[in-house]
Amino acid sequence: MRVAVVGAGVVGLATTAALLRRGVEVSCYERSGAPMAERSAGSSRIFRLAHATPDLVRVAQVAQAGYARWSAEAGAPLVGTGGCVVSGGDWRQWAAAMAEAGAAVEIAGEGPARLRLPAHTLPAGALIDPSGGVIDVDAVRRHLVALGGEAVIAERVEALDPGPRGVTVRTGAGSGSYDAVVLAAGAGTSALAAQVGIETPGTLAHHVRFTFPLRRPGLWPAWIDKPADGMGTYQHQNGPGTWAVGSELDPALTAWEVGRDAASAASEAAVLRYAREHLDVEPRVVGRLYCAPHPGLGDGFEIRRSGSVLVAYGENLFKLAPVLGELLAGATVAGSTPAMRDALVR
Ligand SMILES: Cc1cc2nc3c(=O)[nH]c(=O)nc-3n(C[C@H](O)[C@H](O)[C@H](O)COP(=O)(O)OP(=O)(O)OC[C@H]3O[C@@H](n4cnc5c(N)ncnc54)[C@H](O)[C@@H]3O)c2cc1C
Repeated sequence: MRVAVVGAGVVGLATTAALLRRGVEVSCYERSGAPMAERSAGSSRIFRLAHATPDLVRVAQVAQAGYARWSAEAGAPLVGTGGCVVSGGDWRQWAAAMAEAGAAVEIAGEGPARLRLPAHTLPAGALIDPSGGVIDVDAVRRHLVALGGEAVIAERVEALDPGPRGVTVRTGAGSGSYDAVVLAAGAGTSALAAQVGIETPGTLAHHVRFTFPLRRPGLWPAWIDKPADGMGTYQHQNGPGTWAVGSELDPALTAWEVGRDAASAASEAAVLRYAREHLDVEPRVVGRLYCAPHPGLGDGFEIRRSGSVLVAYGENLFKLAPVLGELLAGATVAGSTPAMRDALVR
């Protein structure tokens, strides 16, 4: 079987590795000069079991096992041990979902669990996910490139032409015929999916995560905060003495039409103000990580099929990449269309 994977982000590379493990001949097309250079760029992401529903928690548990397998293969831990705090929003519902799925969860202030965060303003209540932590993105990139890097072709896919016996993949440099295609092209997915009749979210927004020097060194938990009367944030340690903060701004400030520069400036002003008021960090930005997400998708993913083409999309996919890779590879070989719940059937 010959399969083309479009996109060498974390999802495309995980799928490529899982297909190669099944003995499939794979070409993974990537338009950027390097793998994991768009939404999967940077050096860190949050892993958490904490999610809004028991099914999502269970899918994250499968991902946790996947990261443990990748860590064993790589000979180094790919996910840190700091834990993850979730506060604001529906955190109590998230805690109940974790308990229902059998995941360990602690409630700060009830029992021995104590909230430790590099912040002056601590939330009134929160859950602590002891399985959460920071994913070492550089180590994941190295591992996935070691597993499947030789399959990567540095070409931009211009068109997908389905035929009676498979799909022709056209690039600026030529074309190739494949039995099946997995489309995992991140921000490039909707344009190619439309060519095979699949509609996926196409609206993009600007998002920037900012890094600050920590005032108190140490191992801090990651933190997701959705206060009722303030800006939603996700935060985590992304280096020995640094703290990364991403924010949920008014969508009007980060809409695609606003432009990258204006959206980035508005984000920086808001996050700096927040850092000054609430965090135990030096209020100066020492790092920026930009990406163009589809706004409003939240956790989880969708997989759709048109003939021999499988399309995967979603947001916050890094933590679930081992699950997506296995699911997409298995479904490609079987010719099936998996739902997220199928990740739970092992
Ligand atoms: C700042 C930031 C913070 C985040 N925090 C978290 C977090 O804490 N936890 C978490 O789980 N997730 C987080 N995410 C989201 C997560 O990183 C992404 O969901 C995930 O990396 C997406 O991977 P992907 O492979 O789907 O997309 P991408 O990494 O974007 O990969 C798609 C690839 O396809 C390529 N491509 C596109 N079109 C074409 C084409 N026509 N031909 C060839 N190649 C093409 C692109 O160049 C790209 O490399 C964060 C994202 C950002 C940017």
